[in-house]
Amino acid sequence: MPNVKYLFFHTAAADIRNVDARRIDRWHRDKGWSGIGYHYVIIDDRHDTLPDGAVEKGRAENRNGAQVLGANSISLGICCVGHGNVTDFTQAQKVSLVNLLVKLADKYNVPTENILGHREVNTLVDSDILDESARTSKSCPGNKVDTNEIRGLVEVARSGGTIASATGLGAQSPDVVVEALRIIAANEEMLGNAREEWRNFFFNGEIQALMES
Ligand SMILES: [Zn+2]
Repeated sequence: MPNVKYLFFHTAAADIRNVDARRIDRWHRDKGWSGIGYHYVIIDDRHDTLPDGAVEKGRAENRNGAQVLGANSISLGICCVGHGNVTDFTQAQKVSLVNLLVKLADKYNVPTENILGHREVNTLVDSDILDESARTSKSCPGNKVDTNEIRGLVEVARSGGTIASATGLGAQSPDVVVEALRIIAANEEMLGNAREEWRNFFFNGEIQALMES
């Protein structure tokens, strides 16, 4: 049972379709491991049946993973499907990853700075937390993945912000919001019984100020 002090995130490093926990489990069994080495897997936008950002369970959290050599007894590992040297995680993967990291970090009391991309295990070697045998030459989670961005999003979420806005998924410009409100206002008869609530909302002072801005 790991004494969880760190959370690591990875790339599957496979630039192919339909990678998921089952398939990774097979790959890892083929290496002679006792099944999938990661505790969670996050699907990308190239799966035929699972949606982009879907989170799958891998190895149980109460079992040591096989994901960061030298740190498996002190960490949990999350793998994002795709190849981080080819493309960054998808937006949906980032949202799921950050949500999951926040959940696990809160559960195990892990400070945000202890959330690391696999290659950053080297910082633990450099600071003598782990010995030299834990050093990796891997680029995981990949050159296209900005580990500081992930930690930044985690920090935003932990301080009460929304991931959607932080990742740009929900961060539309006011113009877009105003346009959407105009369209609804022009079609308010479609709202039926909700029309009265809509009008209360729409004629609220702040909304009217936004419309006029
Ligand atoms: Zn890795």
